[in-house]
Amino acid sequence: MLMNTVRTRIAPSPTGQDLHIGNAYTALINYVFAVSHGGQFLIRIEDTDRTRFVEGSEQRILESLKWLGIPHAEGPDIGGPFAPYRQSERLELYKKYAEELVDTGHAYYCFCTADRLSKMRKDQEANHKPPMYDKKCRANSKQQTANSIKNGEKYVIRLNVPDEGVTTFHDEIRGDISFENKLIDDQVLLKSDGYPTYHLGVVVDDHLMKISHIIRGEEWISSTPKHILLYQFFGWTPPVFVHMPLLRNSDKSKLSKRKNPVWVGDYKAKGFLPEAILNYLATMAWAHPEGKEIFSVLEMVRVFDVKSIQTTAPIFDVEKLRWINGEYLRKIQSSRLKVQIYDFYNGKYDQNLIERTIPLVVERMKTLAEYGSLAGFFFERPQEYERPINKELLSTASHALQHCDWIHDAMEKAIREATEKAGAKAKDVFMELRVAATGKTVGPPLLESLEILGREETLSRL
Ligand code: GLU
Repeated sequence: MLMNTVRTRIAPSPTGQDLHIGNAYTALINYVFAVSHGGQFLIRIEDTDRTRFVEGSEQRILESLKWLGIPHAEGPDIGGPFAPYRQSERLELYKKYAEELVDTGHAYYCFCTADRLSKMRKDQEANHKPPMYDKKCRANSKQQTANSIKNGEKYVIRLNVPDEGVTTFHDEIRGDISFENKLIDDQVLLKSDGYPTYHLGVVVDDHLMKISHIIRGEEWISSTPKHILLYQFFGWTPPVFVHMPLLRNSDKSKLSKRKNPVWVGDYKAKGFLPEAILNYLATMAWAHPEGKEIFSVLEMVRVFDVKSIQTTAPIFDVEKLRWINGEYLRKIQSSRLKVQIYDFYNGKYDQNLIERTIPLVVERMKTLAEYGSLAGFFFERPQEYERPINKELLSTASHALQHCDWIHDAMEKAIREATEKAGAKAKDVFMELRVAATGKTVGPPLLESLEILGREETLSRL
C-alpha cells in the first residue's frame, strides 16, 4: 500500500433497523471520493454501545449498501488486511491503548459511582453550568488508584483534557474550527464493561486502518476536538476531516421518521431505484459542474471535488426524488426494468407480459410501486369498477370487436363505424370499454392495451 493512498470509511453503529438515508449519503460521498482518488472505501461496524445494540442491524446495513450499489473494499463481511472490522472483536486493542494513555499521563482511572455522577450533574444543572466531569479522580495518587483497582472497584478510563489552551482542527470545507479546552469534557474512553466509547474506538481504528480522510456528518464536529487530543497524545498524524451537512426535512428540521421515511429499506419498499436514490443524494450538497441533474455514480466519480461541497442545509425532498426516479424508469432498458418490476412484486407478474406492457405505462410511472395500479389489469380481471357501466354502449363496442383484426387501427375503425350506426359518441363508447376492460376511467392507451390482453380475454371481460 502506498503511503499516500486515499482510504475512507463509514463506521455505522448497529443501533437502528436499517441503513439510515443520511448514512447512505455519507457512504456515497466516501465511496466516490475514495474511488476518484484511486483509493479504498471500507466499512467498520462500531458496535460498542451494547445498550443500543439492535440484533440484525449490521446485516441490514450491509444489505442496503449492497442494494444501493456502494461496494466496499474491506469490511466485517469480507475481511481485509486490518481485520477484524467489528469493534466488539477488537476490545483488547482499545484496552491496551487506553492504558498507554494512562501511563503517559493523558488519561486516568475514575472510580466515581453513578450516584455521585448524577448528583454532580444535577448540581451543575441547578447552577447553569455545562455538564462536565469535575475531574475528581484526576487528583488520585498512583497508590490510591492501585488500591482501588485491587479492591475490585469499578472504574472507567477518562481522557485527561488540558485545563487551558485551545484545540483546533481544519475541516476541508469549513476551515479551522477551535474549541477551548476548558469546555471539553474529560471524556470516558474505556467503559467499566471493558468496551471503548465511540471516541477511543474511532480514533484507534481510523489510525490502525490507515484512514486518510474522515468524511462524516456535521453532528460529529463537537466530538472532533476530543479526537484531535487523542491523536496528539498518541503521537499520531490526524486524517483530513470533512464534516458534511445533515439532510433536512422541507421545514429544515433534521431528517426524521415523523416527516420522511429515513431507512433505505423504506425507499426500496416504495419502489425507488438505487440509481435514482444515489443520483439524488449526490445533488444534496454538491452540484454537477455542468449543472446536470441526472448522472450516474460513475460520472460523479469523474467530476467530484469534495472542496465544492456546500455546507448549507440540504433539503431531502421525496417529491424531487420521485421525479428523478421516474426519469430513471424511462432511462433504463425495458429488459432490466422488467426484472426490477418482477422482483419488486416478488414474481407475482409474468416477466414477458411485464415487458410488453412497459412501453404503455412507463411514461406515467414514478416508482415501481405504481406499476401495479397502472398495469395490474393486464394480469388480473378488475375486481371492482370505478363507476357503473352503461351496458348498451358497451355492447356496441363488444359487437364491433367480435370479428375485426386484433390490431389497434382495425379495432378503432370497427368501433367508430358501429358507434356511428348506433348514433352514439365514440368518446363515450371508448370510456365504457375502458372501464369494463380495466376497471378504471384513466390508464394506459386503451386499444394498445387491448392488443396485449387479446381478443378472447377482452371480450370475456366485456
Ligand atoms: N459510529 C459513528 C456513527 O454511528 C461513526 C461516526 C464517524 O464517522 O466517526 O455514525
